[in-house]
Amino acid sequence: PRVDNAETTVTAEPTATATTTATTATEPAASSAQTASARARPSRSGKPQGQWKVDGTAPLNANEELKAADNGLNVRERIERIYAPGGFDSIPDDDLHGRFRWWGLYTQRKPGIDGGRTAQLEPHELEDRYFMMRVRTDGAALSPQALRVLGTISTEFARGSADISDRQNIQYHWVGIEDVPEIWRRLATVDLESTTACGDTPRGFLGSPVAGIAADEIIDPTPVITEIKRRYLGDPDLANLPRKFKTAVTGHPSQDVVHEINDISLVGVVHPELGPGYDLWVGGALSTTPRLAERLGAFVREDQAADVWHGVVRIFRDYGYRRLRNKARLKFLLAAWGPEKFREVLESEYLGYSLADGPAAGAPVGPADHVGVHPQKDGRVYVGATTTVGRVGGGLLSALADLVETVGAEAVRLTPFQSVVVLGVPTDGVDELLTGLDQLGLSTRPSPFRRSTMACTGLEFCKLAIVDTKDTAAHTISVLEDRLRDITPQLEDSISLHVNGCPNSCARIQTADIGLKGQIVTTEEGEQLPGFQVHLGGSLAAPGLEQPQLGRTLRQHKVAARDLPDYVERVVRRFVVSRAPGE
Ligand code: SF4
Repeated sequence: PRVDNAETTVTAEPTATATTTATTATEPAASSAQTASARARPSRSGKPQGQWKVDGTAPLNANEELKAADNGLNVRERIERIYAPGGFDSIPDDDLHGRFRWWGLYTQRKPGIDGGRTAQLEPHELEDRYFMMRVRTDGAALSPQALRVLGTISTEFARGSADISDRQNIQYHWVGIEDVPEIWRRLATVDLESTTACGDTPRGFLGSPVAGIAADEIIDPTPVITEIKRRYLGDPDLANLPRKFKTAVTGHPSQDVVHEINDISLVGVVHPELGPGYDLWVGGALSTTPRLAERLGAFVREDQAADVWHGVVRIFRDYGYRRLRNKARLKFLLAAWGPEKFREVLESEYLGYSLADGPAAGAPVGPADHVGVHPQKDGRVYVGATTTVGRVGGGLLSALADLVETVGAEAVRLTPFQSVVVLGVPTDGVDELLTGLDQLGLSTRPSPFRRSTMACTGLEFCKLAIVDTKDTAAHTISVLEDRLRDITPQLEDSISLHVNGCPNSCARIQTADIGLKGQIVTTEEGEQLPGFQVHLGGSLAAPGLEQPQLGRTLRQHKVAARDLPDYVERVVRRFVVSRAPGE
């Protein structure tokens, strides 16, 4: 088949496509961030691109007008005072479809509308009167008490739903507006929140799931994440970015935070003279036009990290392109500037000092998903276990809290692979923990198919979805475990299936062995069915693979969802017999 890496450039991420128009102010809200002229000027290339420091801050489209009219963070007060008491119908359109995202809230898809109709219906026809609510964990260790709070919110207010996202968030569905203030109050009791979990903001931070505990850690990223959160989470000056801004910080040699696909990443490294610190990467993102992050060649000391983060996010705010949303991520600015100019602007305009040149982090060591039992610095162990495509539910979260306490463990972290790591497990509690995790459906010895399969929200709740994802992926895993028993011992590594319900890349299709992009496909018999365009051979950096590679689109590889197990079986069997040594 013809191999083609071209991607479409349709507007990505549903969550960032507010269709509303601001109805009041025509000038941006006053903000100390907006120091440039408020009058739009054409850029040298002709059309202004909406770069605040180049073109001025006048909004160039409806999304920018909405953000300029009122800071998205302000909607919380209205939710508590007006919308929760007044109910769903009291919410005006610009808050409902715009600013609610600044507090992690989107309306969910109405049940029963098939994927073939997604493109035919108006957004309001697809929309339910309930919300998805995203809670950020920022890589924090969740105590049993925190797990119980998360679990009971699910059972009391979200019909038992709770998914682990690939950004260490918990996502609820079926949340009614009247319950949102109480959910926030309960989250706050365990230091959790939904602040800027969505919207054109600094989204939830990815942090190493084994921060501060792994025996082989280079540097503990906890102080860096804590300081960035303390200084900047909920900062109104950072609440009007061109698009979302994603952060990842790790000090573990497995490089466990998918740093190549974040807007800014700090990856633990040892400088020959300055000791442990961070290698700085910027400008990675997937979506429909994937681009891997690039190193700036700079070494960041722990005490510089929050300043550097603040510098990079302000470069994005001030110079990012705002005219077209599908060109507004930081990756497009990096592509235009190149890493040398980016570093020079960071140092001269934002930091006021130069960063030391630094060594590259090199290839990762060991699997990044932390599955299995591993030593901690303090003599105890940590235990990684996979979920099935991130679907856990509130009952499981509460049961996990009980299990952690029963075996004398300390806490749980979520991973960027939709899984969990139990921390601080006494060695004499390991057997009981493994048994208990198994009973909860959390596997510490997963099959090669269960271990790395991920799925986005999909048709069940997402208004952009064309195809079901979670159930399709879970069914495919079960079938493959059964059918491929004979060749499973020959698979030294897991086979990653990343299942997306539409052309966006919420489940990182381009980084999977087998990436599946949801769309309507036409079978050989001419039938139109929900299915997938296949991407093959993608991977982030991994042990033995220093350079990540994006999966390739094989135009003729389109598969109906119902036939997915058959397709994957053929690919895996062919791979096992025809791969090169070490492949
Ligand atoms: Fe993202 Fe999946 Fe929804 Fe598409 S269907 S927008 S990939 S969550």
